[in-house]
Amino acid sequence: MKLRIWTALILLGFTQFGWGQTTGNSIVATGKETAVESSSNNYAVIGATAGQEASLRAQIQVMQPSVLPLRVLFVPHRKYVDTARIFHLHVPAGYTSAMFTHLPSRTTFIDSDRYQNEDWLGYWMAHELGHLASNSTKEEDAEKVAREYRKRLKQALVANSR
Ligand SMILES: [Zn+2]
Repeated sequence: MKLRIWTALILLGFTQFGWGQTTGNSIVATGKETAVESSSNNYAVIGATAGQEASLRAQIQVMQPSVLPLRVLFVPHRKYVDTARIFHLHVPAGYTSAMFTHLPSRTTFIDSDRYQNEDWLGYWMAHELGHLASNSTKEEDAEKVAREYRKRLKQALVANSR
């Protein structure tokens, strides 16, 4: 019963995000749908510090993923665990357990209490973007795409340090 209430609350939260985004997009998108679609910044980052959000957006810009998330949520550990349970998430050993992506809603969750640094963010975000690009929950599918994205991150780092 308690779980059901939480599920309802979280789904309600999602609906609100969804509404907010639709309204926001329709204002910007008037007559310019293609421009909005091709924008690589057209996703919401929620709950991050200004620094985390800046890093995330810069990294995603560099990785040029074929499929963008609709939203990236940084959530405290307790909420992260609850959300993972509601989505029946199973994290295989050896893979990240501080991020996961819910494919149907294209939402990536990041456990903000386990955030390490920019390198960590880029490495694992590449993995989550791999899930989105392959539209697969399989870790090997995600990693296959992630390796290409990580290469792009590395190249950008080298270019910046010159
Ligand atoms: Zn994964």
